[in-house]
Amino acid sequence: MDYRSWAEIDLEKLDKNVQKVFSYTGKNIFAVVKADAYGHGAVEISRYLDKNPYVTKLCVATAEEGRELREAGVSKDILVLGGILPEEISYFNRYNLKPVISDFKQLSLVSELNCKGVHIKFDTGMHRLGFYRETLPKIIKFVKEKGIYIEGIMSHFPSADVDRKLTENQIKEFKEIYSFFLERGFKIPFIHIQNSAGLVYKCDFCNAVRVGLLLYGEKPTDNFPIPVETIMSVKAKVVLKKKIKKGDKVSYCGTFEAPKNMDIGVVSFGYADGLPRDLSNKGYFLINGKKAKILGNVTMDMTIVDLTDINVKEGDPVLIIGKDGYREIKFSDVARACNTIPYEIMCRISKRVKRFVKKGNSENEENTVFKGNSISV
Ligand SMILES: *Cc1c(COP(=O)(O)O)cnc(C)c1O
Repeated sequence: MDYRSWAEIDLEKLDKNVQKVFSYTGKNIFAVVKADAYGHGAVEISRYLDKNPYVTKLCVATAEEGRELREAGVSKDILVLGGILPEEISYFNRYNLKPVISDFKQLSLVSELNCKGVHIKFDTGMHRLGFYRETLPKIIKFVKEKGIYIEGIMSHFPSADVDRKLTENQIKEFKEIYSFFLERGFKIPFIHIQNSAGLVYKCDFCNAVRVGLLLYGEKPTDNFPIPVETIMSVKAKVVLKKKIKKGDKVSYCGTFEAPKNMDIGVVSFGYADGLPRDLSNKGYFLINGKKAKILGNVTMDMTIVDLTDINVKEGDPVLIIGKDGYREIKFSDVARACNTIPYEIMCRISKRVKRFVKKGNSENEENTVFKGNSISV
């Protein structure tokens, strides 16, 4: 391996996760690939999902993210969750993107768009994007007058993992919104409110789910019923081994002081690669299946670890995130230690960490083709 830090993305596991989400829900899957597919590489992930029959649409946050996918040859419908700004109309048309509409200013732009239909979003309790239900009569008048085709209606859960009552109220309100359309003769192909955490709720009137986290293999809660597997493992190398003496201080600000003579190693992964500096003196990596504790402050490009009882050579790989034997470090483990969520840890894995896409266990580098910033089998 010619890189000092890299990530391996297993498309076979991605397929399995998609399959599991489909078996559990039986609904259209809108794969959420915003933010560079949560740090996994949106181009490679989307090209692959473009061929998956369970994936009906891809969702991005911005028009710019949509452009990247179109230029990479992605042909499925691309839904821009972040909506549309007036200055983006020609962009949406050029790249055939479909916006989520959240207010009347956006709705008035729709007649200038070439895409077939839009999705109307309702705010049922998140207080971010979306129309309030009180505006329903006005929306219906507007779309009838302008001949706007509503391809989907949607809402979003802010707290499906932590607030059952709010979530159930949202589902009830969204169902009433849907009925309002039905009673007025609208035939809307896609009805969607569930994100990953929301899949445990029954929403029988909905026929699509917008799923991100689960596809990448992290569960929204510990006892979540869909047994997904992490698809990305993140690796680096031991670039130097050395000994320190009792009383020596390690790394910037000397926050670790050796209690005894120790063997330590320098690993080529730091906060510029996406390792939270919060892991200083508390996180660990896996080396040959053993825990190597982080000593002292994480630095920009390197992190120092305890090599006591660990048999390793300079140049050997280190697992920053991933599974080695029965031990595994998940994004959610790192997130918990840093008081954040796995989403943030995934998105933080930086550009310097080369992405390799592979299928199954073939780690044969000769099978990979270099494509821009990522590599595919
Ligand atoms: C990011 C996002 C999702 C996906 O959420 P996950 O928890 O990753 O499944 C769904 N819907 C909207 C509107 C989003 O912004």
